[in-house]
Amino acid sequence: MDKLLDVQNMVTAYQTESGEIRAVDGISFDVKKGETVCIVGESGSGKSVTSMSIMRLVDYENGQVTEGAIHFKGDDLTKKSQSAMRKIRGSQISMIFQEPMTALNPVFTVGRQIMEAIRFHRSISKSEARTRGAELLRLVGISDPDTRMNQYPHELSGGMRQRVMIAIALACEPELLIADEPTTALDVTIEAQILELLQKLKEEMDMAILLITHDIGVAAEVSDRMVVMYAGKVMEIASTKDVFDAPFHPYTKGLFESVPSMEGERGVALPSIKGTIPSLSSMPVGCRFSPRCPYATEQCLTEEPPLEQINTRQVACWEWERVVQDTSQKPRIKG
Ligand code: ATP
Ligand code: MG
Repeated sequence: MDKLLDVQNMVTAYQTESGEIRAVDGISFDVKKGETVCIVGESGSGKSVTSMSIMRLVDYENGQVTEGAIHFKGDDLTKKSQSAMRKIRGSQISMIFQEPMTALNPVFTVGRQIMEAIRFHRSISKSEARTRGAELLRLVGISDPDTRMNQYPHELSGGMRQRVMIAIALACEPELLIADEPTTALDVTIEAQILELLQKLKEEMDMAILLITHDIGVAAEVSDRMVVMYAGKVMEIASTKDVFDAPFHPYTKGLFESVPSMEGERGVALPSIKGTIPSLSSMPVGCRFSPRCPYATEQCLTEEPPLEQINTRQVACWEWERVVQDTSQKPRIKG
């Protein structure tokens, strides 16, 4: 399969009062055409920073991608100007966020916002944009688009607003949709509907999805592959099936072990593995996970393991063989 997005050794640094911190510290992964890849990891592991970096939105904060490359269809996005990025954002790569209320402008109607999104990238008349907007709303499962077009965001429910955001994100049929925790603000039934909708649209539009979630149940259900992040690093990349067969990284194993069952279960937040994620300003020497890792050896405390290809997956762990052999705590998977 062709690589649509290829992130190589990306470092994202923020300037803070206590100096520079690397929220993302040299990560590599790819997303192939039409694929759904999930980034999973605890709060603070750098998932959102990764997505914002790909969109080149960290530049608007106190951050910057300082090293590495972000190839999208062969072009390095780190070399693009912000005006070139504005053309790419929303047309070739779209993003949806956790809280649709903050992404929608409260003072404009839904119709106006969706029409603006369409007309930003396409030179079509207002009436054509209105027709297309209504079509998009119907596509995302809004049955009365003409009424909804005249409403303001606050007049819609949370699930409905997220549907509108998805419609806006899809306005120009992007090849890649980045969704950062798109369902965590929604209740479980609505979440299920939105996830189903994303899957359906992905297939219809032949789009790839990079889904960021800390919900293992969601990741298990929708992804083809998983990228497991911890403290700004990638710990493991594997097909979702491989991860469920046997996680190779102790962190991945820890994440899955504490989940009672995988199938059909949503709303399962990442369980708390003993200890907490280290502060970015005082990273442990060696493997970042070592202070919390039951398999850690002397080497883990002094040498940082590289992300290495092992069979069909990539793992950053010196002790992966012991992890795989340790069947004392198998990940609990239903069936
Ligand atoms: P969550 O699951 O809570 O959304 P996350 O994995 O998305 O977590 P990020 O938001 O990517 O985590 O944050 C990674 C780290 O980068 C955190 O330690 C955070 O404090 C830091 N960070 C993010 N934005 C900034 C910023 N503008 N300035 C300084 N540090 C930042
Ligand atoms: Mg986040």
